[in-house]
Amino acid sequence: MKKTVVFGGTFNPFHLGHLKLITEVAAVIKPDRFILMPTHIPPHKEAHELLDDTDRLEMCRLIASELQGVEVSDYEIKAGGKSYTVNTLEYLHSVYPEDELYFAMGSDMLISFMSWYRPERILELATLVCNCRDENDRNACEAAKSEIEAAGGRCIITECEPLVCSSTEVRDLIDRGERIDGLVPAVIAEYIEKRGLYRD
Ligand code: ATP
Repeated sequence: MKKTVVFGGTFNPFHLGHLKLITEVAAVIKPDRFILMPTHIPPHKEAHELLDDTDRLEMCRLIASELQGVEVSDYEIKAGGKSYTVNTLEYLHSVYPEDELYFAMGSDMLISFMSWYRPERILELATLVCNCRDENDRNACEAAKSEIEAAGGRCIITECEPLVCSSTEVRDLIDRGERIDGLVPAVIAEYIEKRGLYRD
């Protein structure tokens, strides 16, 4: 049976915390396919200064072109509206009915998971894989994992050291005219600079 990992996010912009999650989850799961799925409108959080779909999609494509086995899907962007994970997983299940699906996320998402739209169906469709964003999240992640397992789901929490970093922090640094090269991959820093993104 093939393994497909889906990693959804706003990627506004893509940063080194996202990259670390991809590397770690790929090392733990050893998937046949790793799909980056930029959301159109995220249902689980307020999206501040959300860039055009085109720029976020392009940043994902630039990263994927540097990573073997990683591809980008424009499914949520093309579908429009709020991007509910359950719909995306139903779609991927229909495209790859034989595959074992995994949904990758950071700890903030795992901790709130049971309040998402149709969590039970998501758990029927996929195994959750989580990277902690902060060492202080670990206990809350273990509690969320127990709740998910009690609901009949499967959840894996990776053991890698967290990389504390967020898109908000990157946007704030740009806004203040400060450097972001320690927080985003070089190809993303170049793209942001070239397109003059997040400057106002
Ligand atoms: P923002 O600061 O704009 O809210 P963000 O940094 O949380 O954005 P998203 O694109 O919303 O980034 O996150 C997509 C996914 O990546 C989510 O599952 C999130 O938990 C995860 N993620 C984001 N940053 C990290 C990080 N530093 N380590 C591990 N996972 C992360």
